[in-house]
Amino acid sequence: MDEESTMWNFEGDEHLNKASACTIRSFLTTLKENLNQNDDRPVIPLGHGDPSGFPSFRTSQVAEDAIVDAVRSGKFNSYSPSLGILDARRAIAEYLSQDHQYDTSPEDVFVTVGARQAIDVLITVLARRGANILLPRPGYPLYEARAVFSHLEVRHFDLLPEKAWEIDLNGLEALADDKTVAMVLINPGNPCGNVYTHKHLQKIAETAKKLGIMIISDEAYGYLAFGSTPFVPMARFGSIVPVFTIGSISKRWMVPGWRLGWILMSDPNGVVQKHKITECIKSYLDISSDVSTITQGALTQILKKTPESFHSKTLNMLREAADLCHARLKEIPCITYPCRPQGSMFLMVKLNLLLLKDINDDVEFCIKLAREESIVVLPGAAVGLKNWLRITFAVELSSLEDGLERIKAFTLRHAKTK
Ligand SMILES: *Cc1c(COP(=O)(O)O)cnc(C)c1O
Repeated sequence: MDEESTMWNFEGDEHLNKASACTIRSFLTTLKENLNQNDDRPVIPLGHGDPSGFPSFRTSQVAEDAIVDAVRSGKFNSYSPSLGILDARRAIAEYLSQDHQYDTSPEDVFVTVGARQAIDVLITVLARRGANILLPRPGYPLYEARAVFSHLEVRHFDLLPEKAWEIDLNGLEALADDKTVAMVLINPGNPCGNVYTHKHLQKIAETAKKLGIMIISDEAYGYLAFGSTPFVPMARFGSIVPVFTIGSISKRWMVPGWRLGWILMSDPNGVVQKHKITECIKSYLDISSDVSTITQGALTQILKKTPESFHSKTLNMLREAADLCHARLKEIPCITYPCRPQGSMFLMVKLNLLLLKDINDDVEFCIKLAREESIVVLPGAAVGLKNWLRITFAVELSSLEDGLERIKAFTLRHAKTK
């Protein structure tokens, strides 16, 4: 061995690379590398859910003013307590209990660096040797990535496209064993745009109770429901089974860069609290990064003062965009559209590759689409469903229209001739 190699003690962590390779970010990087620099047309980003750069999706003035006021007050310049500033926790508790059937205490709320850190916290706290977690397929790949990194075994249950992406509860039951720590559900759904009914949520809660596993309900798109099914928070079923709700202001207020999210524990019967889970969460937050105090200082105003008109404008834009997708995509022969989205910012469509002449799978479809039409669309493989596509419709309507035209032209050009 040469002298050099004994001096610098660094070895890349294989688990870390494996975890990063399954993130959406990693797929999007590959697609962006395939964009044609010589195409004069604007790139249409239908791959990721961050509309904040579009003028129509600018956040509410109330939110912007709240940040300015927090800065000017001079009260939010110190370190944050590990669990978050008490007023922010109180504001979140009030916001989330607006339609629950029991009160939510600030004690049950933990402020996090966006929903991402909430995922990080819960996976870290739940992971132990030999344990497993049940995740939806298709799903949000950060859960897989984070579980892989914490050596937590992942088992997937299916979402059923023909049943508006409801959970296959029989399949779920078959996966669980005495080492299962939790199941994750995402409602409103990313990547499917589904919104679960009260009845389905209750069935999920009863199934989880029977299996003795807690529920992590990812409500990053909470209240972003524009279809006929209203959004119901899973925390309502906390008396049936312990529920950890994950949420943030990133999506509903369209400020993902502000990095403010939360975990709410709903365990009125003290089922998991008996095992001192909040102490574990607290311990992890003690060694993790804090949330900016400026956004925490602004939060009460953001949650309480944002006018209803801002939220209804967002819902109207999303509904209009989803309708446009529905109208245009169903005209494309190689695309099957199982159901209309009812919430979030995404929909999933299935590719019929038999109708295409020189495309073998969804990843190749997306790479060629990026190269030839300057559009970024996420291959289903990135969210666990090969040969499907996830399309974001939270973009300026004119761009969406242009994008859907380009997808159509692309599929016609690659269609098999009879
Ligand atoms: C965007 C998203 C997150 C992360 O949200 P942040 O608050 O921006 O960290 C978590 N879960 C799902 C399902 C998401 O789509």
